[in-house]
Amino acid sequence: MLIDTHVHLDPYSQNEIQEILSRAAKEDVRMVISAGTTIASSKKNIEYSKIFPQFFTGVGMHPMDLIEPFTEKHDNELRKLVLSHEKVIVMSEIGLDYLPDMPDRAWQFEAFRKQINIARDLKLPIIFHSREAHNDCFRVLKEEKAYEVGGVMHYFQGSLYDAQSAIDLGFYISIARPLFRLDELQDVVKNISLEHIVIETDSAPQPFKKNRENWTEPRHLKAILLKISELKNLSSAEVEKVIFENTKKLLLTRWENIESTIA
Ligand SMILES: [Zn+2]
Repeated sequence: MLIDTHVHLDPYSQNEIQEILSRAAKEDVRMVISAGTTIASSKKNIEYSKIFPQFFTGVGMHPMDLIEPFTEKHDNELRKLVLSHEKVIVMSEIGLDYLPDMPDRAWQFEAFRKQINIARDLKLPIIFHSREAHNDCFRVLKEEKAYEVGGVMHYFQGSLYDAQSAIDLGFYISIARPLFRLDELQDVVKNISLEHIVIETDSAPQPFKKNRENWTEPRHLKAILLKISELKNLSSAEVEKVIFENTKKLLLTRWENIESTIA
């Protein structure tokens, strides 16, 4: 069984999600974690997780989507959302994004720090986003003691040193489709232990791709697993087993409930 540790399915309609999840199941993907990017999108994900057994969710405010400073009101709302449903299993998506034209950096830092603290208080693993901001992410994670809950550096792109820094902080490295095109990422996968890897598709609607068939979906997870097996020179069954165990360890405090839901 494969678990897609990071998707954004909330922009889709209920019917579309039904189809996406059944296409995924045919490829052995039996669980997805859909990350919120705003309070509204976190709420929508929670609603979908009540409908679909294999649909779990993260709540959080994405650095790209901050339209105002992070306040106590946001803090309280996020905490309430985490506690509102047992299928909220990660704090996601939070982090830092330094691409041009992104929201104010001071807002980003404040939101990241405060949300790490929510995760620590409520014992949720953190799935974080970093674009051009790896060193600052690692520093903030360390300062805010994120290692107490651990988590995942999602959609990993970086050097072996970056991967090792995340691992040292108690985080898994999540590998997505860039693995097919980035030599540096292939080298990272070859050089870190499989025990530190989880996988994801980061699936979200992609209207810029004209052919709907080409939109990334959780069903594409298997191809990432096969590529890792090839790079590691291991059987796909072995890689599947280890990655499953990693994901289970990541979600350990909630695993009993997850298992009974997806069984
Ligand atoms: Zn994402």
